[in-house]
Amino acid sequence: MIVDLISDTVTRPTKGMLDAMMNAKVGDDVFMSDPTVNLLQETAAEMFGMEDALFFPSGTMANQAAIKLHTQPGDKIFCDKWAHVYNYEGGGAAFNSGVTCKLIDGDRGMFTAEQLEVAVAGRADIHVPFSRLVCIENTTNKGGGACWDFEELIKIKKVCEANNLSYHLDGARLFNALVAKNETPQQYGELFDTISICLSKGLGAPVGSILLGTKEHIASALRVRKLFGGGMRQAGFLAAAGLYALENNVDRLAEDHRKAKQIESVLHTLSYVKKIEPVETNILIFYVNDDMNADDFIAKMADKGILLTPMGDGKIRIVTHLDFTDDMLEQLLKELKSF
Ligand SMILES: *Cc1c(COP(=O)(O)O)cnc(C)c1O
Repeated sequence: MIVDLISDTVTRPTKGMLDAMMNAKVGDDVFMSDPTVNLLQETAAEMFGMEDALFFPSGTMANQAAIKLHTQPGDKIFCDKWAHVYNYEGGGAAFNSGVTCKLIDGDRGMFTAEQLEVAVAGRADIHVPFSRLVCIENTTNKGGGACWDFEELIKIKKVCEANNLSYHLDGARLFNALVAKNETPQQYGELFDTISICLSKGLGAPVGSILLGTKEHIASALRVRKLFGGGMRQAGFLAAAGLYALENNVDRLAEDHRKAKQIESVLHTLSYVKKIEPVETNILIFYVNDDMNADDFIAKMADKGILLTPMGDGKIRIVTHLDFTDDMLEQLLKELKSF
């Protein structure tokens, strides 16, 4: 038995999801006539109380389109130093939009409104890039699935308003945060100008992300998506998986969180574990003792069929997901205890 805990993207569509895909009504989505894509977009927009939504092939493209539509080349955006948009999108902010990133030194991928205020302050004349956009990420990926305090997000919004900045949420794992903190999509819809969500992470769809925003934003996003080569034809087969995921796989994220907590409690009892980052959702980051090499540990676990991710600096990452069964959890805990 292989226990793959590399990411929550390793899941395969279930029978129910595949049936939904096979039975989807489709059309040519570049002509906006795929009924299932249209339904997914309407469903998501309604869920968040936002005007409109657009289906994308990936979360990266949805975020990159958002950056593009909020900025002009030469502008500046603000994000945490661990942000996915800065670290893991191939330098796309510079490549696609010609913008620079002002990085904020946050905690586990999260900064405060005061830190943003300091970052925004300073001269605004011909010498400096225009400040345009603030990007936050919830939950944080590199930050170990941490959830933002919603009150802080409101304070950040006020700083955005005072400085004429747009506010984008990279919500690749937003549903994990909603479930963990008992929050609603509408709360986020009210606060942000644009939001991206991934259907292919914890929600278990094979492909797809959604960008949400005003009618105007989404009209621009449609043009940008075409420009990026992301216009798809009978995408309804994929959208059907997304609809199925939104209907069936949101509440069950609590189970992924419970399993991560269970792993955390076992790690706390093991003498070779040096430190565990607080576990809030489905991502668990821990460190082994200095006399033990993290890469060695990962290689030895892989020999036993347990796949984990090295995060550098002795950090090891575990991500729980839809295909991580109770039997696999037992197997993992057994191997961790006997290591
Ligand atoms: C996975 C992820 C994305 C984008 O992912 P794709 O692999 O391009 O779909 C964006 N932001 C965060 C925080 C992510 O974890």
